Amino acid sequence: MTDEGFTRIRYEEPAEGVARVVLARPEAANAQDRRMLYELNDAFDRASRDDSVKVIVVAADGVHFSSGHDLRDTSKVSDFDTVGPYGGFDAPGQEGWMAAEQEFFMGFCWRWRNLPKPTIVSVQGKVIAGGLMLVWPFDIVIAAEDAQFSDPVVAFGVNGHEYFVHPYEVGARKAKQMLFTSEAITAAEAHRLGMVNEVVARDDLERFSLEMASKIAQQPLMGLKLAKLSVNQALDNMGMWNTIQAAFGLHHLGHSHNGQRFGMIVDPEGADRIRAIAKGGKS
Ligand code: ZN
Repeated sequence: MTDEGFTRIRYEEPAEGVARVVLARPEAANAQDRRMLYELNDAFDRASRDDSVKVIVVAADGVHFSSGHDLRDTSKVSDFDTVGPYGGFDAPGQEGWMAAEQEFFMGFCWRWRNLPKPTIVSVQGKVIAGGLMLVWPFDIVIAAEDAQFSDPVVAFGVNGHEYFVHPYEVGARKAKQMLFTSEAITAAEAHRLGMVNEVVARDDLERFSLEMASKIAQQPLMGLKLAKLSVNQALDNMGMWNTIQAAFGLHHLGHSHNGQRFGMIVDPEGADRIRAIAKGGKS
């Protein structure tokens, strides 16, 4: 069975013990609207609860893995069956937007990071800002040679995207550089930094990821669960959850500041600023 009424993703079972969840909006560079996030969450729940699945692979159709949040999304949180213990999504001031981001950005990422089975993400092309929220929560990252990772949202007057684990993923200094400059980290550099496990040719990405998933699926699920928990607990002992919480508060200070100053949650000159920096960088 591969169809659950999904319109933004596909759910596949490409090999024994392996579920694959594919972002299927290539015409929009897999921009994440709320429907996509809720479909992803449903797919991850399905794979987690299916005792025949041992490994979950996340992949994306098209040239680019994900361009981040879909800024044209007009859906409301109340259009969906919410998952987290949050409410007040339509409240005025910062209250409503903070609840929304707790639900489908920070809440989903943390939920997916703690899925009880190993997860592998296969990444190609550009991964921008919110796109990293579909990479960093997962256990193993396989990158095509053309993958590029960036979080340019400082240009919009906030600290970074809502799942703030940058220092854990690329190290403190590189985290500052990627945030301060808005520049992308290449697959080769991400590999050197330990942010991605393996770099493969674009044509090999699917095969390589599936082979690794099938290899992992030969292990007993109990051992896999315990190993995953052990590594995640090490990160938690290093303060990962507290880091996310603290940065989330600052993120909403940024949104609130922009709201007071510009009447919108981001600095409206952000996109122009990123283009200007990119031009300067190429001269
Ligand atoms: Zn935000």
